[in-house]
Amino acid sequence: MIPPQFDYVRPANLDEALAILRDREGAKVLAGGYSLLPLLKLRLASPEVLVDIGAIAGMDGIAEVEKGLHIGGRATHRSIHENAAVKARYPLLEDAAAGIGDPQIRNWGTMGGSVAHADPSADWPAVLIASRAAINVRSAGGDRWIDARDFFIDSFQTAIEPNEILTEIRVPAPGANAGGAYAKLERRAGDFSTVGVAVQLNLGADGQISAVGIGLTAVAPTPFAATDAEAILMGATPDEATFRRAGDAAAAQSSPTTDAHGPAEYKKAMVSEMVVRALRSAVSRARKQA
Ligand SMILES: Cc1cc2nc3c(=O)[nH]c(=O)nc-3n(C[C@H](O)[C@H](O)[C@H](O)COP(=O)(O)OP(=O)(O)OC[C@H]3O[C@@H](n4cnc5c(N)ncnc54)[C@H](O)[C@@H]3O)c2cc1C
Repeated sequence: MIPPQFDYVRPANLDEALAILRDREGAKVLAGGYSLLPLLKLRLASPEVLVDIGAIAGMDGIAEVEKGLHIGGRATHRSIHENAAVKARYPLLEDAAAGIGDPQIRNWGTMGGSVAHADPSADWPAVLIASRAAINVRSAGGDRWIDARDFFIDSFQTAIEPNEILTEIRVPAPGANAGGAYAKLERRAGDFSTVGVAVQLNLGADGQISAVGIGLTAVAPTPFAATDAEAILMGATPDEATFRRAGDAAAAQSSPTTDAHGPAEYKKAMVSEMVVRALRSAVSRARKQA
């Protein structure tokens, strides 16, 4: 459990960090360290240099603007959970943040680190997919925005290049009559998800579902959008029968594996159930806004 040797740098600003990533072969970003350090100790990663982004000012802020929420790449799970705008208008984010690990992990772990690490069982990716968030990555040569739905390529693999830093995540404003919820099935409190379902939706003036995003955690090699369920829900009356049909469609689109968390068939059944629960909660929250 002793990590391999590496150099350690703690640049004072983003430009300096990006120059190191450009110039040094085998450089890797270090944020909270809760995913990276175990990999080093198990010798599953052996970077030449760790670029600690902890001293870079302005990367940990959360700001609400008219168009939505701007979350710095180094914002911690805890700072998101405790943010007043999140509590008031982004219940999907509040739900997800509350269920990540334990207080120590929420104190140090970051949204950017979780998203860049792309563990299929991590909670934020499905939330960003459901919310149709955009992710900013920056290199010494400039920056680009990536749709969360295009960001996760495979297990532990994203669209980020080795010379890029994830600097910001933008979650669109929920709009009128909006509701969101994250339903997480875990073996014990604080565990990674066995199944996680993120729902963000709006109700129209007629009470029908006018917009909906659903992201699934831990039931495929990557987090993904349950597009078949979304298609069933769009324009539909938000009743139990529709929720069940959407849940079954999401289960059919998932491809969980049998592991210590349970057999694949059990997980599929749980996808169906957790989609129904997340929809109930999201719709109830949207109705309270109306
Ligand atoms: C016991 C335990 C329980 C946990 N439970 C949960 C849980 O229930 N749900 C959940 O979602 N997660 C859980 N986690 C994971 C935890 O949330 C991690 O903190 C998170 O996944 C990684 O964030 P970090 O800031 O620690 O990143 P780090 O460990 O520092 O980095 C992770 C990876 O991302 C890269 N990286 C980090 N930041 C950036 C950036 N800004 N730009 C580019 N690359 C970057 C690093 O190079 C590294 O490859 C758990 C972890 C532990 C140890």
